[in-house]
Amino acid sequence: MDLAAYADATSACTRCRLAAGRTQVVFGSGNEHADLMFVGEAPGFHEDKNGVPFVGQAGKLLEKLLGEVGLIRSDVYIANVIKCRPPGNRDPQPDEIEACEGHLFRQIELIKPTLVATLGNFATKLLSGKPTGITRVHGVPQQVTLGGNEVTLYPLYHPAAALYTRAMLSVLEEDFARIPQLLGRPAAAPEALEPFVPEPVFERAPEPTVQLGLF
Ligand code: URA
Repeated sequence: MDLAAYADATSACTRCRLAAGRTQVVFGSGNEHADLMFVGEAPGFHEDKNGVPFVGQAGKLLEKLLGEVGLIRSDVYIANVIKCRPPGNRDPQPDEIEACEGHLFRQIELIKPTLVATLGNFATKLLSGKPTGITRVHGVPQQVTLGGNEVTLYPLYHPAAALYTRAMLSVLEEDFARIPQLLGRPAAAPEALEPFVPEPVFERAPEPTVQLGLF
């Protein structure tokens, strides 16, 4: 089964309770032959409506960070640990991650990236198989076996966490700058970084929000 067929089969998934509240399954998007795959946490309000991961404010920041290393969205593949939107802004629950992880592992198996950048704690802990949090492991590549292949796992802070914390954004930019080298490509030409100014909208709202468990 190829990636499109697997996405199609997943669109009717009822493996967990999140199926009841979703608009649609947000399977993933981008280049199905990408060397570089990003794995975030879960769809938010905008992703659930559009069916595409990272289309809200965090997605705009992700695109800016990609641009700073000479990449655009269609160069990479972007997915999440959880394919359906959790209600409100709540964290994915362990049984939801367990129910959904097979979809992510299958995606990795089909895409065969050489570098998997995990965004935030949920993706990092799941794909490293270790409980160590993102604050300790960000920016440190690890060799892991995923989908039957040797992959470099590269944990990064989640862009949603970096949106509102300038210091974290700087660290995220520094960690991003090593991506070309990890892909075996020349470093992107250094350029003056425009400050990222988030728009004053909620990422996943409009329900009352709870604290994001991103780092
Ligand atoms: N945050 C995520 O982790 N994933 C998305 O798709 C959007 C925001």
